[in-house]
Amino acid sequence: MKPELQNLIDLDRERVLVAHIASLLAWDQETHMPPGAEEERAEQLAWLEGSAHEKAVDPRIGEHLAALGCSDSNPGGDPSLDPDARAFLRVLYRTYAREVKLPADLVTETAKAQSLGQSAWVRARSENDFSAFRPHLERILDLKRRAAACLDPAKKPYDVLLDLFEPGSDEAQVRRVFDPLRKDLSSLLARIRSRPQVDDSFLRKPCPKDAQTAASRYFMELLGYDLDRGRLDVTAHPFTTTVGRADVRITTRYDEGYFLSSLFSTIHETGHALYEQGVNPPAEYAGTCLADGASMGIHESQSRMWENVVGRSRPFWSREYPALRAVLGEVLSGVSLDAFLRGINKVEPSLIRTEADEVTYGLHIILRFEMEADLLSGRLAVQDVPAAWNAKTRDLLGIEPPSDAKGCLQDVHWSAGLFGYFPSYSLGNLYAAQFVQALRKDLDLDGRLREGDYASVLGWLRKHIHAPGAALLPNELCERVTGKPLDAAHFVDYLNRKYAEIYGF
Ligand code: ZN
Repeated sequence: MKPELQNLIDLDRERVLVAHIASLLAWDQETHMPPGAEEERAEQLAWLEGSAHEKAVDPRIGEHLAALGCSDSNPGGDPSLDPDARAFLRVLYRTYAREVKLPADLVTETAKAQSLGQSAWVRARSENDFSAFRPHLERILDLKRRAAACLDPAKKPYDVLLDLFEPGSDEAQVRRVFDPLRKDLSSLLARIRSRPQVDDSFLRKPCPKDAQTAASRYFMELLGYDLDRGRLDVTAHPFTTTVGRADVRITTRYDEGYFLSSLFSTIHETGHALYEQGVNPPAEYAGTCLADGASMGIHESQSRMWENVVGRSRPFWSREYPALRAVLGEVLSGVSLDAFLRGINKVEPSLIRTEADEVTYGLHIILRFEMEADLLSGRLAVQDVPAAWNAKTRDLLGIEPPSDAKGCLQDVHWSAGLFGYFPSYSLGNLYAAQFVQALRKDLDLDGRLREGDYASVLGWLRKHIHAPGAALLPNELCERVTGKPLDAAHFVDYLNRKYAEIYGF
């Protein structure tokens, strides 16, 4: 191996090391940290964030990248290098070229504002007080606009931010996907609403937290999550975090009046964790930027595939329903498999995105996408967020949020500075539908699920999607796995077939 390449691997490993330490402190902030530690934790995270940034912009990285022939037009460097080296250089170059444009004080200021913003959001949400969160959101937005201007002053800020989560995407491209999707989802929703509604009242029976915890643990292990390399905890907003190669943690939340919330949150986060646990770069690139997901959209394809395509399907529950009934106790007594399947697939406009059905979910994402685009462009002021949110909820879903806690304060993303993340959820649904079509050519998915052979399904995902990690861009991965670029038609087709059966049209 060329000495410059080895040096780059060593330097990048240090950056990842610091980032993982920061992940552990951020995880602790959401799970176990005493409330009095808020300010101090924000300082600690800001320091680590600054330190990771310093490592990412180490001048030696720029020198080695140049020596290996990497440039904007050729980020993979010298064509005579082996493909693994070129993949590593391409990812590293992208990170370096981005980070080097960000002033260190902006990075630490942003980390601190986001840490404080998250604590403020948790309080504002529980007290239904948007005005307490407003100054934090204004500050975070201002910092994001400044960052976008540093990264690419020629582009619209939202375009720059979208590209961070889904490399290659921008507002116009997302709109080209979302505009027809909005029409398709709205027309499917109208057809469903013309049919008699299914009964899901049994899902609201009280279910103790202990039983839900047991169900969460049962299903995460069943699907292949390695508890020796992870753990399950409780937070206000479920998430997955990677603390290291052998430490990928997930969280869930429990509602004793709606056990489905924890069940599907856990399966969703398990999907993320299976991806992270399955990323498998060549040994010499372990612990570097290659050991990461391809994009947030690809990440969401994995979580939403396990949650929806598997976790809300007849083949899966025809095997697992008895186990769920046993672990939950009395809650599902007298509820048939058919009734359960209809109940968990009930389509009805609702307020909370994370609990939305597969049809209206995309409409929630379109709402957030449009609001983010307006906030970043300045068309929408932060003080007008609650009113705009409520108007869009009426327009897209035909319902009215009774409070900001169930409206514009429901999601963690903006408090964490994740502007540009939301579209990934819908892109994830589209990727998932297209990947599953490819999977079905190699595997009898329904048959595997009916037999409880989740290992074969996971094995296919590991080989085709997880193992390459960040080596491929999302569009490259999609073409390699499915032979085609991303096409929303697969997802719309999946939904139409599924709900024609459930609602009988
Ligand atoms: Zn997710």
